[in-house]
Amino acid sequence: MSSIETSTVAALLDAIAGGGVEVVDLTQPLTESTPVIKLPPPFANTPGLTRTEISRYDDRGPAWAWYTLTIGEHVGTHLDAPIHWVTGKDGADVGSIGPSQLIGPACVIDKTAETESTPGYLLTVADLEAWEAENGRVPDGAWVLLKTGWGSRAQDEAAFLNVRENGPETPGPDVEASRWLAHERNLSGFGVETVGIDAGAAGGFDPPFPLHNFLLGAGRLGLTQLANLDRLPVTGALLVVSPLRLVGGTGSPSRVFAFVPRR
Ligand code: MN
Repeated sequence: MSSIETSTVAALLDAIAGGGVEVVDLTQPLTESTPVIKLPPPFANTPGLTRTEISRYDDRGPAWAWYTLTIGEHVGTHLDAPIHWVTGKDGADVGSIGPSQLIGPACVIDKTAETESTPGYLLTVADLEAWEAENGRVPDGAWVLLKTGWGSRAQDEAAFLNVRENGPETPGPDVEASRWLAHERNLSGFGVETVGIDAGAAGGFDPPFPLHNFLLGAGRLGLTQLANLDRLPVTGALLVVSPLRLVGGTGSPSRVFAFVPRR
């Protein structure tokens, strides 16, 4: 390692220790009541989290506690690997995603006000172009994060899934914005505060679930149920995503961190 690389890492560690860089946890707490997506019939659904005791400082293990988990791959704050979608079936599983794709600069697109008045707000190409006009081109390897305020509902399943008469009403990109995110820039991935990367109404779009279709088909990654996006600057934060290295996995619950320079 060169001295430049060594000093860069040392400077980062100093900044974290000294408070010049804050490490923000973007992960929602994972519990038995964490909301999970609910697909309509005839589709199969995922279980959320359940755990059973193996031992708890008792006859089965006097000095230790441990549990068996039962959990779907796509529960809570989690990563979607390319093979999650049929368009990406020849792409990477979660265990073979390169680590460099799991870190990158965060670009935060704030649609909190729009989502407050229109819960099913659809992000458009015009929104993306307006963001770039103000903040510069989305850099290669970026994680684009759609900030909507939806994370404040994350502990209340009914409010979080927001199923109305005509189906779920949650924000996400429209068809053309989905195509743009997958193909017009070289993203590592796209992250949201909602239960899935597509908008709630996206099952009725053409194609259905266009962001899953285009983004995962292009080998990029999805990230859901993020917390604390209100603590990120529009640009300038470094995102770190840590899924299980699950061989053949289509996704994984993940711990997600942002390194944020203090202004
Ligand atoms: Mn998923």
